[in-house]
Amino acid sequence: MSAKKTAKKKKTTANKKTTKKKKKTTANKKAAKKKTTANKTAKKKKATANKKKTAKKKTTANKKGRAAKKSAPKIPKSKVGPGPLPDDAIERIYDVLAETITPVSDLEYTTAFELLVAVVLSAQATDKSVNEATRKLFPEANTPEQILELGVEGLTEYIKTIGLFNSKAKNVISLCEDLIEKHDGAVPETRAELEALAGVGRKTANVVLNVAFNQPTIAVDTHVHRVANRLQIARTNTPRETEDVLLERTPERHLLEAHHYLILHGRYCCKARKPECWRCGVREDCPYEDKTPAPA
Ligand code: SF4
Repeated sequence: MSAKKTAKKKKTTANKKTTKKKKKTTANKKAAKKKTTANKTAKKKKATANKKKTAKKKTTANKKGRAAKKSAPKIPKSKVGPGPLPDDAIERIYDVLAETITPVSDLEYTTAFELLVAVVLSAQATDKSVNEATRKLFPEANTPEQILELGVEGLTEYIKTIGLFNSKAKNVISLCEDLIEKHDGAVPETRAELEALAGVGRKTANVVLNVAFNQPTIAVDTHVHRVANRLQIARTNTPRETEDVLLERTPERHLLEAHHYLILHGRYCCKARKPECWRCGVREDCPYEDKTPAPA
């Protein structure tokens, strides 16, 4: 074969190889593009599903809130304060609750920091959903430093089953930064210091002071507020007003556990929409007019 022919053959082979390579590259690019599009679609679908889930939770919470408001007419300002239930009836009620209720938080925790984080996560969420998340989170990270190491994204992975998880992840990270900066990572034991932390309001501070540090505070949530008003210990429109009345009217020997007695009674017996009056231990002293009869 002449040199010319050999060169031509080589060129043809080279050209064929280039074309093949090009085809392969194009195919690879197409496959990568397809994969990226599929990933994007999946992510979009996931985000939409999460949004829908959050919106549904919010709507349900709003509905519940509206229902609670509907069943509790606003008290005129001049009548806000202690309710008409006599002191001896209040004593009997607390005594019965103390006999029947174990004053322990439904939230699972082993340190003051774990409790603080669990309470922050429990806003507008059930204790059950918080416990499910913290059971995985706390063995991996249960100090401000360890949670900061996770970062917002890492923390979100653990708490994404809890309502409002995006904003809660950011809040907990800010809270951890505050704890390290202001208190060397320890949970402070005064209301002023607790309330100065990112994302910590009066109710959270009260729970931590009471449950972690044994201080006689009464954290008032929707259950405590409802029970105090149904029992007419208080006649109030806001949790803050209820807290003041409860602190004034709760017998001293029950002050430390009053928060748990009232919250657990409200959560499991004196329920918002249908209180289970027929099996309620304090019905004799309860002046609530629309008591629920026993189911037929
Ligand atoms: S009797 Fe009914 S309304 Fe009164 S405290 Fe008991 S459950 Fe609540």
